[in-house]
Amino acid sequence: MSQKFDVIVIGAGPGGYVAAIKAAQLGLKTAVIEKYKGKEGKLALGGTCLNVGCIPSKALLDSSYKFHEAHESFKLHGISTGEVAMDVPTMVARKDQIVKNLTGGVASLIKANGVTLFEGHGKLLAGKKVEITAADGSTQVLDAENVILASGSKPVEIPPAPVDQDVIVDSTGALDFQSVPGKLGVIGAGVIGLELSSVWARLGTEVTVLEAMDKFLPAVDEQVAKEAQKILTKQGLKILLGARVIGTEVKGKQVTVKFTDAEGEKSLTFDKLIVAVGRRPVTTDLLAADSGVTMDERGFIYVDDYCATSVPGVYAIGDVVRGAMLAHKASEEGVMVAERIAGHKAQMNYDLIPAVIYTHPEIATVGKTEQALKAEGVAVNVGVFPFAASGRAMAANDTAGFVKVIADAKTDRVLGVHVIGPSAAELVQQGAIAMEFGSSAEDLGMMVFSHPALSEALHEAALAVSGHAIHIANRKK
Ligand SMILES: Cc1cc2nc3c(=O)[nH]c(=O)nc-3n(C[C@H](O)[C@H](O)[C@H](O)COP(=O)(O)OP(=O)(O)OC[C@H]3O[C@@H](n4cnc5c(N)ncnc54)[C@H](O)[C@@H]3O)c2cc1C
Repeated sequence: MSQKFDVIVIGAGPGGYVAAIKAAQLGLKTAVIEKYKGKEGKLALGGTCLNVGCIPSKALLDSSYKFHEAHESFKLHGISTGEVAMDVPTMVARKDQIVKNLTGGVASLIKANGVTLFEGHGKLLAGKKVEITAADGSTQVLDAENVILASGSKPVEIPPAPVDQDVIVDSTGALDFQSVPGKLGVIGAGVIGLELSSVWARLGTEVTVLEAMDKFLPAVDEQVAKEAQKILTKQGLKILLGARVIGTEVKGKQVTVKFTDAEGEKSLTFDKLIVAVGRRPVTTDLLAADSGVTMDERGFIYVDDYCATSVPGVYAIGDVVRGAMLAHKASEEGVMVAERIAGHKAQMNYDLIPAVIYTHPEIATVGKTEQALKAEGVAVNVGVFPFAASGRAMAANDTAGFVKVIADAKTDRVLGVHVIGPSAAELVQQGAIAMEFGSSAEDLGMMVFSHPALSEALHEAALAVSGHAIHIANRKK
């Protein structure tokens, strides 16, 4: 007799492990299957996010920003350091230790919540059976009342720039450089491309970003994207828009990239090239031919608004389904599905998923952009407050950027909060909370904010919506 579970989760990334813990907390007999082996060759939970995504990239961003500060701005505070140097292997080892601690922490949580962990490749068979193939090729089949597919995503590869993880790397390889490249090319000016560009630019690398689209950060509020392009360019990133890579040639430890732009064919030579052109869902050998689960036209597993697939009792969450490829979106879908399996009426507000680009300044956004609202014909009032007018930002010598609050012109309800500036990720979350509770700009304006705090910029931007900001001259409405 095969073992039977109430819930079997395939994949232990932020979607899968959170779903498994939540299901177990709700009293369901739960198993999770994972196959990923970390750097030490041992099973590592946490998926892309903990192993090669959110956390390691932020560890490198923080290290490189500290270097940048020591190098560039300590002297403004009267601190002299002598020569500042970066030991890249130590920076990378610190990142690896953080990853190890966190993935180990997830393993402990899985155990503490009574979730059964299986190591191996999981595959959904017909009739909600799940086959596990271990590393030695042995197989076992489990039975489930419910299955949650959480197999995640992996980097998109493009034929003109085949990844060798030495000279041409993807986002995973870019987390493990052992020295600072002299010249770095980055294909793709998306979130991952810009974050990785920032890491190495801060350490002294000459970075060129090649972006095929003509527009910079097209999904971000236009005013914010314009400011971001200006600031990042000033920081030394060479951002080439409309630059389509058509080929690469690796010679020794360098790569020459051929691309076309409005002026014709060009080429540039780099010491490293990062390919960061997006991610695609992982579905290889995940579903038996007769599993009944269908895919959408873009190769993601088809799900409804509640992450139910075409097979009753089978769900899919996270990067392997439609929507933003973000860890917190995956986790919240995991919670929603576990609760629905347990019989609760859970749902998710897909309109209020914050998104952050961890450059410096950070770029963070929730809700709709001004251009999207205008395209929908919604009349809006907009309030903007620059960090240059924030006492806290001035004290921190971190005054680039602004907070923008967009409210419905008729109802004053906040429809979007967009921030470029220090701690934008934290500020935008305050906007998200306000929006979740249906706040108007006036409500936000009436709140008492601590002084001095960066969040006062959110307060002032909300006041500016109706022309009542205190610490800037209001535009005539
Ligand atoms: C460099 C980088 C930086 C990022 N930064 C951020 C950020 O700052 N914030 C943010 O929100 N998001 C960020 N992301 C995106 C984030 O990592 C993903 O959105 C998130 O990890 C998706 O979670 P998931 O659980 O759906 O899938 P994943 O994290 O990809 O996990 C899927 C897991 O399933 C396992 N698996 C797959 N198939 C099988 C199978 N058949 N059997 C067993 N196991 C299987 C995989 O080994 C993997 O461990 C970043 C990504 C990258 C690459």
